Amino acid sequence: MDHIGWDNMMFGDIEYPSTQYDHLPTPPHSHDGSPLNDAEEDDTIVSISTTFFANAQHRQQPPDIVLLSTDSVYFHVHSDLLLNASDNRFRGILPMPMPEQGEEPPVFEVPESSPVLNVILHAIYDMSCAHYSPPFEILVKAVDSMPMYGLNIKATIQQSTPLFTLLLSHAPLFPLQLYALAAHYDIFDLAAPTSSHLLAFPLSRLTDDVVERMGAVYLKRLFFLHFGRAEALKRVLGPPPHPHPPTPTCDFPSQKGLSRAWALATAYLAWDVRPDMSTHTLESALRPLAEHLSCDLCKNALNDRVKNLVVQWSIVKPANTSYSEQYDTRTSDRHHSPPHFRLSPKHPHTLTGVATLSLSNRYPY
Ligand SMILES: [Zn+2]
Repeated sequence: MDHIGWDNMMFGDIEYPSTQYDHLPTPPHSHDGSPLNDAEEDDTIVSISTTFFANAQHRQQPPDIVLLSTDSVYFHVHSDLLLNASDNRFRGILPMPMPEQGEEPPVFEVPESSPVLNVILHAIYDMSCAHYSPPFEILVKAVDSMPMYGLNIKATIQQSTPLFTLLLSHAPLFPLQLYALAAHYDIFDLAAPTSSHLLAFPLSRLTDDVVERMGAVYLKRLFFLHFGRAEALKRVLGPPPHPHPPTPTCDFPSQKGLSRAWALATAYLAWDVRPDMSTHTLESALRPLAEHLSCDLCKNALNDRVKNLVVQWSIVKPANTSYSEQYDTRTSDRHHSPPHFRLSPKHPHTLTGVATLSLSNRYPY
């Protein structure tokens, strides 16, 4: 094979989701000072992490150890960072004491696939691995593996961390799994914004596995989130349009017709109430009531009432929205997020954990 200058090249981009890696030929024997020296044969193939390679400048001092994943990818890392993050010497893999620093960094085998190990190491380095686009199941696997490596999950997945942001970006597609994950490790800050994506989820479809994973407390919170939203909708729907002063053609008794029609229509809506009901659904159910009205004042009253209802329903959100707004800006998710209704960050331990609803107008009945 050609003996060309391999020294500064990196091999084996970690690619998702196939978990197949490009394996390139080993550099020639002249590649001194590298763990690749172990591979003597020309047809041996190795891969090196594109983030954690020997000359990576993550810190001032160079990496002092090498981790080798089950699928033969080398990760050059700093032992002090790993030991600091882990309370079991990284699954007991790192020896005590660490060997004297020789010419070559020691290699330790890790019983983990490279995609999972990659996520774990990025978390330890507090770096984002988003550019690898790890699939959601890999992220879950990495998080679930963290305790084995002696990592404190709650400390590792805090609001400010890249892994937190990356996990949360999967909330629209995997709300239930993410909620269950956050619940399992009691990461309330992650469960709360995720819960707003679960308003459309039929609770009857919760499986035993998922319920077991999220545990009783977070299951209860999810139920009360749904109940609370449904109750809020019923409250918003309740009052019929405001009656107008009697006119020669439309007195109070004849206005009762509109009230009755309103009551029927809203009862129908409330019967099928879903926590994620859209304002459009409300409008299209209630606006047609005007077709049966001959009095313009009644029509106006109905119009105003529907408008007001839509406004009220769209502003139903937690008392404290600062975090959700912050989250929306950060992920550019503002236009895709469901109504701002989720576990309340202010009262995570209250029974309902739901939003407070403020009605600006009072209706006579
Ligand atoms: Zn009227």
